[in-house]
Order: sequence, then C-alpha cells, then structure tokens
Amino acid sequence: MVHDTGPPDRHIGGVSGKRGGRPIEEETPTMSNQVLTILRDAVDATCVLTDPDVMTGYVRDWTGRFVGRTAAVVRPANTAQVAAVVQACAQHEVALVPQGGNTGLAGGGVPTRGEILLSLRGLSDILQVDVAAGQATVGAGVPVGVLREAASAAGLGYGVDLASRDSATVGGTVATNAGGLRVLRYGDTRAQLLGVEAVLGDGSVVSHLAGLARDNTGYHLPSLLAGSEGTLGVVTAVRVRLTPATRARAVGLIGLASVPDAVAAASLLRNGLPGLAAAELMLPPGIDLVMRACRLSPPLRGTHAAYLLVEVTGDAPGEDGAGGNGPLDILADAVAGLPGVADASLADDRPGREALWAYRERHTESINTCGTPVKMDVTVTPDALPSFVEAVPAAVRAVAPEASTWLFGHVAEGNVHVNVTGAAGVGERVEDTVFRLVAERGGSISTEHGIGTAKRRWLPLNRSPAEIAAFRRIKQALDPAGILNPNVLLPAL
Ligand SMILES: Cc1cc2nc3c(=O)[nH]c(=O)nc-3n(C[C@H](O)[C@H](O)[C@H](O)COP(=O)(O)OP(=O)(O)OC[C@H]3O[C@@H](n4cnc5c(N)ncnc54)[C@H](O)[C@@H]3O)c2cc1C
Repeated sequence: MVHDTGPPDRHIGGVSGKRGGRPIEEETPTMSNQVLTILRDAVDATCVLTDPDVMTGYVRDWTGRFVGRTAAVVRPANTAQVAAVVQACAQHEVALVPQGGNTGLAGGGVPTRGEILLSLRGLSDILQVDVAAGQATVGAGVPVGVLREAASAAGLGYGVDLASRDSATVGGTVATNAGGLRVLRYGDTRAQLLGVEAVLGDGSVVSHLAGLARDNTGYHLPSLLAGSEGTLGVVTAVRVRLTPATRARAVGLIGLASVPDAVAAASLLRNGLPGLAAAELMLPPGIDLVMRACRLSPPLRGTHAAYLLVEVTGDAPGEDGAGGNGPLDILADAVAGLPGVADASLADDRPGREALWAYRERHTESINTCGTPVKMDVTVTPDALPSFVEAVPAAVRAVAPEASTWLFGHVAEGNVHVNVTGAAGVGERVEDTVFRLVAERGGSISTEHGIGTAKRRWLPLNRSPAEIAAFRRIKQALDPAGILNPNVLLPAL
C-alpha cells in the first residue's frame, strides 16, 4: 500500500511476468517461502529480517509520502553476500530495491510494489584513506558524515556535503548522484568518483578501485552508475577523490530587495570570488517557518524579499605569506559591492557559521512539520529563475488552493527546491503543473534527488524517445532479468 496523492500507475503493479522481476508479495505463499529460503541460503540467515515491526523503518521513506511493504529485508555484510542475493533474485526473477540510508526524496529506495529490500548499510567499512593519493575507498554503507570525518582526521576533506550527512550513505549518494551544499566548489558526487565496485543484475561483480588519476581504458562505469538509482547495479564500494582541507571559511546571510537581486548577487559572487563554496537562496516564508519550527531568532533586522546564504573558503588572514585578507574580509568587501543588499550578517567562527547555516539546513525538517510534502527539485537557467520563483506559488494555488509552497535552493546552479504542503489528493496535479513550468523554461525536473518512483512518468519532459530507448537498452544489458529497482527512473511501459 502506498500513501500518495499520485495516480495508481506510479505505484502499483507493472512488474509481474517473466521480465521485470516479480514482487514477492504477488507470489503464492509457497513461492514466498521458497524465495525466503533461497535468500537465507545466500546470506547468513540472521541477515534476512521478516519481522513487520523491524521492517517498518525500511519500507517508509523519509518524507512519509512513500510507504511500501516487503516480505523481507536482506542485510548483507559484504560484497560476496550482495552478489549471492542478486544472483538468487535474478535466477528466480524476484525484484529487489537497494537501500542505503533511506534519506532519498524521490521514493526510489522503498519497496512500493512488494520488492525485496536490500539494505546496504552493513557494508560500512572505511577500507582505506590514502593520504598520498588524496583518495579514499569506502564501503557503500558508510554514511557521508563518517567519510567526511575520516577525511578530516587525515587532514583532508570530502567535497560532497548535505544536511542528511549522518544517515545518507556514500552508495546512496552515488546512486542518486547527490549534489548538496558545496556543488559550486567541488561538483556533484559523480565528480568525486574514481572507481566503483558494484554487483550487476546477473550477480556478477565489477570492481575498478585502483584510483588511477588518469585511466582511459574503455567505458567509465562509475559515471554510468552515478545517478542510475539502483537500476543498473548495486554499488558495494567506492573510490573517491578527497579535497585539500579548508583552512578558513566565512559565512554570510544577506537580505536583499528582490529575488532578481539575489540571483544577480550569486552570479557576481561566483564570478568574482574564487573561494565561493556555496550560494543558497531562501525566501521569507521559509525563513519564518524555520524560525517557528526550530525556535530561532530572526537572522537579520527586518524582513527581506530574498535571502542569500554564502560561504567563502580560503587561507586564514596572513596565512598566504603575503599578509592577505582572510575569507571574512574578502566576503565583507564583496557584499559591500553587491546591488540590492539591505542587511547582512557575517561570521567566521564555527558557532557563528553554524548558526547562519541553520536557517538553510533546517528548511527540510521544518517543512516536514507542516505535513507530508510533495517534493520537487528542479533547475532552470539563471535568467529564468526569478520569473519561475514568482510563477510557482500562484500556479500551485490554481490547482491546490489550500496548499503552501516553500521555495529554496542552490541558486548558483539554478536549482530551486519546490516543496508543497497541504496538497493531499492533488499531489500529482501539483507536480504536473510545476514540471510543465520547468519544461517551458527549458529546465530539468530533477537537479539532484533523482527521478525515483515519484517523477518517472514525467521523464519524457526532459528526455527524448530515442534517449529513453537507449536507457532501456543499457538497463537490459546490465540487468537482463530486470530485477534491479524495476519501478524507478524509467517510465512504465
Ligand atoms: C534533510 C535532508 C537533506 C537533503 N539534502 C540533500 C542535498 O542537499 N542534496 C541532495 O542531492 N540530496 C539531498 N537529500 C536527499 C538524500 O539525502 C540523497 O538523495 C542521498 O543521496 C540518499 O542517500 P541514501 O543512502 O539515503 O539513499 P537511499 O534513500 O537509501 O536510496 C536512494 C536511491 O539510491 C538507491 N541506492 C541506495 N544505495 C544504493 C546502492 N548501494 N547501490 C545502488 N543503489 C542504491 C536506492 O535504490 C534509491 O533509488 C536530502 C535528504 C534529507 C532528508
């Protein structure tokens, strides 16, 4: 059963028959028991969970919008066990859904149609932090925050950071090609990848983890698996590049006279400040909500039409050997030269920086206090962004008069997170309306959360029939039995 406002074809059926893997719940009880026996044989029997109470946390997504069910949660401890599970499922044509930290926001990591749930959290070893190479190899189940800590302990950093860092796994961020808060500086997860180990749909293991800085020997499987949302392979280990440690950073929260001013300011800062690491847009309703939900004081004097949260990294004052300015002075000078600035608060000490970041990072949890959200993350070009931000709330109101619309995002990349609460029963119409506004402006319906189950029917707004046909051929090649997450990403046939 799926609690969602969308149409049935998004969440029910579509995987029966020989191709596409069978959901275990549609089997006869005898067949279910047979599959459970096969799974128990493939891994240690204690790794196969069937207690409904224990499975609850695995079948419900972070937003509460997607709730599925499964006959079993399988928790392998190593790559060999993952391979054994996938091979058994392929032989018996049983569909499975890989899951990492279950923080995904597109409904792709829960078994909405009774698939077996394959949890990768047990692959949680930091296998190597290679300081000389500036790289790390980690198991797919390692949380992003743990990788970041391991890099930091070695005097290095990891370029991907997101508010879900304590739960989101490295494997999950590869599968969704997660972006996050510092894409502007370091790129998305795909940009960090030097190698991947994965189990393909037939149970075979592909592994290329040497981390050679240059390696032009054929197809780049890490790039293909990044963003494949568990449809092409189960990621079991990852080799990533690490970044130099950040010596000093400053954060500014800027109140501006208008959204176009905020977009223009983000462009000016990106073009003028080599150390700009983040630029996040927020609007008054979101700031007010975060203050109420998290009991925070107003960040600035008065209310402003738009807010820009920026972070600049660099050397500490004088550390460059030439007596140069630190990030705080650089940021203060830059903010002083921006048009439309009404007020700003800057900090370079850790508590001060974290206090300013809280207004942005706590948007997601604050929105959840208003009820189950319809979540969209879209990209439009910078010149289209102000008109898009203006158009969305009115367009949503036209199909969901009771709804509230919350907008924020990674403005330097043209990203807007569109969250709508109070749209029970009309979620699909809301999504359709917003995605069409995006498509009219030549934008993308998924910046970083992926397509999942939530958006698969709208993939044709962004991808041509020829591209989708090519996607299907790639899936057929790597997952011939069609058992890997068969109900995400590609539109139902
Ligand atoms: C508070 C909050 C803030 C967030 N901020 C951001 C943000 O700034 N940027 C951003 O991009 N995302 C963000 N997210 C979304 C989410 O954290 C990311 O999508 C993340 O990459 C999901 O990782 P996960 O381990 O939780 O994956 P899951 O949710 O478990 O799975 C997500 C998808 O990946 C697949 N998958 C998971 N693990 C594997 C594997 N090992 N092999 C193959 N497929 C796999 C699943 O089948 C599913 O399709 C946020 C979420 C929350 C709750």
